[in-house]
Amino acid sequence: ENYHTILAENQRLYNEVQELKGNIRVYCRIRPFLPGQNKRSTTIDFIGENGELLIANPSKQGKDGHRMFKFNKVYSPAATQAEVFLDIQPLIRSVLDGYNVCIFAYGQTGSGKTYTMTGPNSVSKEYWGVNYRALNDLFDISRNRRSTFSYEVGVQMVEIYNEQVRDLLSNDGSQKRLGIWSTSQPNGLAVPEASMLSVKSTSDVLELMQIGQANRAVGSTALNERSSRSHSVLTVHVRGVELKTGSTLRGCLHLIDLAGSERVERSEATGDRLKEAMHINKSLSALGDVIFALAQKSPHVPYRNSKLTQVLQSSLGGQAKTLMFVQINPDVESFSETISTLKFAERVSGVELGAARSNK
Ligand code: ADP
Repeated sequence: ENYHTILAENQRLYNEVQELKGNIRVYCRIRPFLPGQNKRSTTIDFIGENGELLIANPSKQGKDGHRMFKFNKVYSPAATQAEVFLDIQPLIRSVLDGYNVCIFAYGQTGSGKTYTMTGPNSVSKEYWGVNYRALNDLFDISRNRRSTFSYEVGVQMVEIYNEQVRDLLSNDGSQKRLGIWSTSQPNGLAVPEASMLSVKSTSDVLELMQIGQANRAVGSTALNERSSRSHSVLTVHVRGVELKTGSTLRGCLHLIDLAGSERVERSEATGDRLKEAMHINKSLSALGDVIFALAQKSPHVPYRNSKLTQVLQSSLGGQAKTLMFVQINPDVESFSETISTLKFAERVSGVELGAARSNK
């Protein structure tokens, strides 16, 4: 009814701003209610087929109580891991043609970032997240191309915690801080000291994920707590040699599970928590600024403002392709975090619709 007027108006605005848009895709994924949560108290009012998302403010009635967002895609809570992967598969495969690709998961803690990127467990293939599926797919395609190309795949995994970069694949579990090379070369190694493991099969991948998990837990009592406050970056380097000509191409895929985006009340956090919160804030807003500058084709892109953007510098911008999974919780308690998450996503996608404009 009313939604259709809102949708039509927003579609028109959306089309207008499309031209301004950079090459970032934003896919919003809504986490299902967890067992025990009251399914009726949700902020999700409407999910359109073309990426529209209408959020209801639980404390306001009527039109003023609604905010419309528009992304490249919005997944309903029922979307499966396989469905989500199918949509990003072409992007993943382009790495074998020499492209640089960055895939992020952004959202508050508990919104499903790790579920999307890693999955709830690695045992059952059905629940595999993007990381496993991506590597698996790269192996499949490179096998299919073996009469024309010879590919090598190397993987690095680092964690960025409190603006320090650490290796997650070192075999001695050392928590050595790593330096970042200022690289403006496409496909340049930003963190050359981080261990690079060569992978040839899915079982190699499962093994390295385990090493990464184990190293991530070092020095922290609660893995979940630590991982929600650090960014983890899995980088897949691909080198392909065309057999006929001997020419070489390189592609690079970054799979990033970002720290939780929740705003921490300054008055409540002290000591380490406050420090962590400030670092997270700084790096997520630096990421937003970089993507925004790229989308606006700004001559100055502020990569230097955080370790995260420095590590990713050579894979953000230029010919690189960027996709962000914006994860949200469906419950009313998360309303204000959901709105701030979606506003961030709206900003990086370069498409801001503002309040639903049905009454103009
Ligand atoms: P985050 O990484 O953002 O902190 P998690 O990925 O750990 O969040 O998800 C929080 C909880 O919700 C976990 O128990 C996870 O298994 C569950 N969950 C998240 N997304 C989904 C989904 N799409 N389907 C089923 N369960 C999910």
